[in-house]
Amino acid sequence: MLDVARIRADFPLLGQPENGRRLVYLDNAATTQKPQAVLDAVAEYYRTTNANVHRGAYDLAIRATEAYETARAKVAAFVNAWAPEGVVFTRGTTEAINLVAGAYGRANVRAGDSVVVTAMDHHSNLVPWQLLCQEKGATLRMVEITEDGRIDLSDFGRALERRPKIVAFPYVSNALGTVNPVAQLAKLAHAGGAVVVVDGAQSTPHLKVDVRAIECDFYALSGHKMLGPMGSGALVAKPELLEAMPPYHGGGEMISRVWDDHSTYNKIPHKFEAGTPNVEAAVGLAAAIAYLERVGPERIADHERALAAAAIDKLVQIEGVTVYGPRDHRAGVVSFTYGDIHPHDIATILDQDGICIRAGHHCAQPLMRRLNVAATARASFYLYNGLDEVDALVGSLVKAGALFGYVPA
Ligand code: PMP
Repeated sequence: MLDVARIRADFPLLGQPENGRRLVYLDNAATTQKPQAVLDAVAEYYRTTNANVHRGAYDLAIRATEAYETARAKVAAFVNAWAPEGVVFTRGTTEAINLVAGAYGRANVRAGDSVVVTAMDHHSNLVPWQLLCQEKGATLRMVEITEDGRIDLSDFGRALERRPKIVAFPYVSNALGTVNPVAQLAKLAHAGGAVVVVDGAQSTPHLKVDVRAIECDFYALSGHKMLGPMGSGALVAKPELLEAMPPYHGGGEMISRVWDDHSTYNKIPHKFEAGTPNVEAAVGLAAAIAYLERVGPERIADHERALAAAAIDKLVQIEGVTVYGPRDHRAGVVSFTYGDIHPHDIATILDQDGICIRAGHHCAQPLMRRLNVAATARASFYLYNGLDEVDALVGSLVKAGALFGYVPA
């Protein structure tokens, strides 16, 4: 296990009591807290380096551009990207996937084609594909999941028989914690002739990611879920695909020459970064990555797996509690229900003990339908959580159960 007390001391917000209690923050799949190193990097950027990037002829603007491009190289190295110019900064996973659907999808998907997603996809890896298919008259095919919350490989195979243009799936499910066999899925999808889009929102913060080993084509990530600032994120793509794609947004920065009625475009990645970018977010994300690297992505993954395993072991002993998702091949996300207690009630009661968990459909309504629930409660762990917080979660849940007339086992 990691030295949680030491790590926790790096996160100012975690030292702040919540409802008079020590804060137990277990909503890391939604967003993570930020270490002092990230706060300092952002403040230092504004104190010493701020100017608009890529266009300044003066030293300050050159330093700002260097900070921004160094951050890009940092993101590229962290996920073993094909090249730094294959990293397009975005507001997060949602914008990255919309970029792929809006630029690659619009140019390559036609009437009668199919696009494949899975029943465990987050709305942000579903709705952009719905919009694309509706616009083009293409078919959206949703691959089913198994009873224990994995992608159903035989249904995946059947979906590929139609030779889809695009196959999209999450590396890690935000609602079930399932870690999908992404390299295997990408291989199958490529054999079926598709381009592969991986939603990396929940994998990049928690696993050692190597996009080249996965052999996907596009990989989306959110910086705010990995200790970085809100509004930071990236699309990581094969450079040759970005080269061939039309632009997504039009405006400054993304052009080369502009005439009255048409334009030529800048080289990648700038072709996809119209307007003044969020330099602060990129700089903060680079500092977050440096922090994660110091701790070690593999050690973080082991730590979270241990916390999730301990939580599941304890939760399943409480009569009336159902834990969703597989027992193995999972990350530090634990979704559960407790009898007929509404997950929102569970979250509200836990909040009184200073425990933050998520309750709701987790932006995965098709998945909730398949689980036959309207919502679940979800605890999601990160490197600053400890086993004592698992105990706090379980203790508070037992108290909630007692309030609703459930007797703990
Ligand atoms: N995909 C998954 C699996 C997620 O968990 C999330 C965030 N909840 C997203 C996509 C969307 O990320 P963002 O809101 O940062 O764009």
